[in-house]
Amino acid sequence: MAITRRLALAAGAGAALSGCSKRNYDAIVVGAGVFGAWSAEHLRRRGKRVLLVDQMGPANARASSGGESRMTRSAYGRDAIYTNMALASLREWKRLSGRSALPLFHKCGVLFFFDQLVEYARDSIQVHRELDLPLEQLDNAELKRRFPQISFDGVAFGLFEPDFGALMARRAVEELVARFVARGGEYQLARATPGSNPREVLLDGRLEHAEAIVYACGPWLPKLFPDLLGERIFVTRQEIAFIAPPDGDDNFGAERLPGWADFNGGDLYYGFPNLEGRGFKIARDTHGAHFDPDVGDRRMSEDGAALLRTFAERRFPALVERPFTEFRVCQYENSSNGDFLIDRHPTLENAFLLGGGSGHGFKHGPEVGRLMAELVLDDRAPDPRFSLATKATVQAREVL
Ligand SMILES: Cc1cc2nc3c(=O)[nH]c(=O)nc-3n(C[C@H](O)[C@H](O)[C@H](O)COP(=O)(O)OP(=O)(O)OC[C@H]3O[C@@H](n4cnc5c(N)ncnc54)[C@H](O)[C@@H]3O)c2cc1C
Repeated sequence: MAITRRLALAAGAGAALSGCSKRNYDAIVVGAGVFGAWSAEHLRRRGKRVLLVDQMGPANARASSGGESRMTRSAYGRDAIYTNMALASLREWKRLSGRSALPLFHKCGVLFFFDQLVEYARDSIQVHRELDLPLEQLDNAELKRRFPQISFDGVAFGLFEPDFGALMARRAVEELVARFVARGGEYQLARATPGSNPREVLLDGRLEHAEAIVYACGPWLPKLFPDLLGERIFVTRQEIAFIAPPDGDDNFGAERLPGWADFNGGDLYYGFPNLEGRGFKIARDTHGAHFDPDVGDRRMSEDGAALLRTFAERRFPALVERPFTEFRVCQYENSSNGDFLIDRHPTLENAFLLGGGSGHGFKHGPEVGRLMAELVLDDRAPDPRFSLATKATVQAREVL
């Protein structure tokens, strides 16, 4: 049965049941993006009765998790905490992908390239050495030999991670939620509002109870908790384009071209090969203007398209005059420095806050969900970097 059909049935069943009486859930997770879905799954795995709720559906078009593809990589400069999380998460993604009818993970590798040996690259090499993880160092000549599709002008060297690659984002979250439901979790399509009591939440205006309520609402968190998070989560507009590679040219397929990012000073650009025929993906990893996830304009700007075209044609000469096939505008929900938010609500007892994916959260979904389940069930707080207390009100990106 198609995943969406399975979810529609689950949503219908949930709505019918909840019309009767209170269900006494152990946990309600609000938000079926990658963070909420994995939190619900880890709570379920630990034997808890869990209801997962989303106002528009798992990894819907407006959610940050709703895109086509997301990069997974272990190079994180000196931030070994994220290297370890990416590694542990990849194991879960691969397991899920292995059970899915369509692939959720493409092991195309990830290539970062630099104009000089910057601190971030040096630190990544050091962390990979310490953790005994593969990270190939390629000089300019080797880069040209391995990846002839890319023009490496001004590039001194590259770092290549052979074991990582691309996650099929929306499909992966849908699959995860379908499996969660198939194994006894419950899912409902409903809009949630925090209740006046800590263990209560209003679902489309109807009161529901649970021992713990996790708000994994991504870019909607500042709307739900304006006093607390209005100035601590920065939601920014991001633009993405897909370009048709030359017809019949397999140099842009996932077997030949890895996920890539260009660290050559100035703006950082990144992208993917032509995954599943969708087109060559390209984006600029610079935080755009403030964005409202409900009503923000999701049309590509002319300036944005021009920047992406100029970059693509410079670095990928075969793409000169190749047509754009698609544009996508979505949002990052950034914390001040890029660290995630995995913490208790400071005053609502038994309410938990989860978000701040900051443009790099998708890959970490499985580990983030595990940490949230530990916080809920064992009262074991994750690393202080994920606490609310460390979230500042001025944006100064540190995690890359
Ligand atoms: C353009 C772009 C590129 C990215 N690239 C990468 C990448 O290459 N690698 C990577 O690892 N990460 C990447 N990310 C980041 C990653 O996608 C996000 O960090 C992650 O998806 C955030 O997931 P989330 O579950 O916190 O939020 P979301 O996916 O936004 O989920 C939140 C959910 O909460 C629901 N919700 C909100 N309010 C309510 C309510 N009141 N009631 C019910 N439901 C509610 C919403 O409908 C939504 O489904 C990228 C993000 C973007 C935007």
